[in-house]
Amino acid sequence: MYDVIVVGGGPVGSRTAYVLARQGWGAIVLEKKGVVGDKLCCTGIIGQECVHNFDIDESVILRKVKSARLFSPAGKMLYIKRSEYQASVLDRAAFDLAMARRAQNAGAQYRFDSAVHDIRVTKEGVEVYCEGRGGSLSARAVVIASGYGTRLTERIGLGRAADFIAGAQAEVVAKGQDEIEVYLGQEIAPGCFGWLVPTTAENARVGLLSRRAPETYLKRLLESLAAEGKIMPGEWKPSYSAIPLRPLRKTCGERILVVGDAAGQVKPTSGGGIYYGMLCADIAANTLNTALHRDDLSVKNLSRYDREWRRKLGREIMIGYWARKLFERLSDQQVDRLFDVVKSNHIDEALLEDKDVSFDWHSRAIVKLVGRTAVARVLGGIRLPFRGSNDI
Ligand SMILES: Cc1cc2nc3c(=O)[nH]c(=O)nc-3n(C[C@H](O)[C@H](O)[C@H](O)COP(=O)(O)OP(=O)(O)OC[C@H]3O[C@@H](n4cnc5c(N)ncnc54)[C@H](O)[C@@H]3O)c2cc1C
Repeated sequence: MYDVIVVGGGPVGSRTAYVLARQGWGAIVLEKKGVVGDKLCCTGIIGQECVHNFDIDESVILRKVKSARLFSPAGKMLYIKRSEYQASVLDRAAFDLAMARRAQNAGAQYRFDSAVHDIRVTKEGVEVYCEGRGGSLSARAVVIASGYGTRLTERIGLGRAADFIAGAQAEVVAKGQDEIEVYLGQEIAPGCFGWLVPTTAENARVGLLSRRAPETYLKRLLESLAAEGKIMPGEWKPSYSAIPLRPLRKTCGERILVVGDAAGQVKPTSGGGIYYGMLCADIAANTLNTALHRDDLSVKNLSRYDREWRRKLGREIMIGYWARKLFERLSDQQVDRLFDVVKSNHIDEALLEDKDVSFDWHSRAIVKLVGRTAVARVLGGIRLPFRGSNDI
């Protein structure tokens, strides 16, 4: 019997397995694919805080970023730049592989082609059933890290993410592009945004998040960028996925924890889930460490995980989700006016100088932005449903 079975060999599953293995527990990762790291539909941008906290190896970083250009629906531009690097663009496949290697080096085992289709809790432990060559395995506890769209959380009675957004992306040839560009507008990505993220001197990722028809909007975005000469026309091969916007109401059960996209631990503003998922992986592994030592894997004892990650991220996710819903209601004209107001009141400069505003933590920026009278006027006198910035 293993101590812990981790379902899913994405970055969050591998991080959980790594911490558990380092603590001396027998951990095995069950991955449905034949390899780790063939996740294509991810832009792979993480903040420098994530790079430092998780000691991300330079070899998996394609480039570092200090600045970005934001375009309004009418083509107005905001240029945001800080003197220090703010984020890194990952080679996502190499990153996933590096995270898995790190876990293996710490002693975690991996079994591929093992799609878990059922989990049953018994008095003695947990039985995990795989399709393919996995068979069935038993452990003292299970961590579900099987990403967005997993059916396992429903299977064990924890439900699924209540809201999500579709994502689409293609790798393109883009010579001479060296700035990240973000595009807003109902015609580009309804309620969301599109992006061009250079990865090398010759390549870039073009993608978008959208409430509807991501394939149609991505095709349109690719064609318009090609027409502008920003990318080369070609046979683009888009990939599609989705991002949960709201966490599960409960992320633990008897002998079971849920982490990462499977739990909905994602920034609802940008859709970034790598950092929050890995932060929660550490909380999950540390909770299990104590519970395994005490031999108490009851839901009552494991609910410490639920409380701790919500204490760290709950308010961020709540405010981010509120901001997302607000943004989705704005017309293109309102977004254009926001750009004008931000520029003419030098709000962009103030936010860039503000040490509380960072790539990974958005709630303070949202509260400060919406708290500005000029901005609130554009938003139609919208009031914050939570208290001021000092309370966050
Ligand atoms: C278009 C797009 C762009 C994005 N860009 C960014 C970005 O720039 N920055 C960022 O931080 N995040 C981004 N994200 C989100 C990011 O990709 C996810 O948050 C992140 O991959 C979550 O990691 P995870 O380990 O929880 O899940 P995943 O990476 O999805 O890994 C889950 C693993 O579980 C395996 N699995 C699934 N089901 C089973 C099963 N039944 N049995 C066994 N194994 C199973 C899968 O094969 C997979 O390997 C983006 C997402 C999209 C859609």
